[in-house]
Amino acid sequence: LFVAFEGGDGAGKSTQASLLCRALEESGRTVVRTREPGGTPIGEELRSLVLEHGHGDIDARTEALMFAASRAAHVQQVIVPALGRGDVVVCDRYIDSSVAYQGVGRGIGAASVLDLNLWATDGLRPDLTVLLDVDPAEGRSRRTAGTVAEDRLESEPDGFHAAIRDAFLDLARQDPGRYLVLAAAAPPPDLHAAVLVALTRVAA
Ligand code: C5P
Repeated sequence: LFVAFEGGDGAGKSTQASLLCRALEESGRTVVRTREPGGTPIGEELRSLVLEHGHGDIDARTEALMFAASRAAHVQQVIVPALGRGDVVVCDRYIDSSVAYQGVGRGIGAASVLDLNLWATDGLRPDLTVLLDVDPAEGRSRRTAGTVAEDRLESEPDGFHAAIRDAFLDLARQDPGRYLVLAAAAPPPDLHAAVLVALTRVAA
């Protein structure tokens, strides 16, 4: 069972991933919690490289390829072996983040970034993608409140984050059976309860 959390910066993905992992472990499941960009030694190095350099240093295609390379390693080294053992994989960000940030945010095209990533992952999609839909202003205030580390996207205008938000929602509309879309502003325990219900549906 493969679950991904997606959504803009400050949506609360890590909080919900933690709550889900704890619930699954309490029910006796073995859980592999991982994150993108990152998840493997090479992926963590690529993450640092991309996050250290801003948009000024790395052009959009190079950035998309770096994220795709990180993801290819992550799928082969971590996700596929875990699924093969029967573990549950809970991943903070996956292909949708690349489609939204590099494809739409940086303007190289949602379709080509999706194709690139389907190649990089040999077509592996989550069983359930939880999209935490966050209003860009709300996400910004949560980030500046210190719950999420400042990063290179802090300086992007709200329009950039609004385009990212629409891109995530578009992806969810294209494949409604695989998505749970939640308003990120709801109380964390309510969001967690909704995730558990959706998981029961996909695991059945
Ligand atoms: O959510 P997390 O802190 O792991 O993301 C790190 C940064 O990388 C964030 O600013 C996020 O918006 C960005 N990112 C990106 N493209 C991706 C995935 C993440 O620009 N494909």
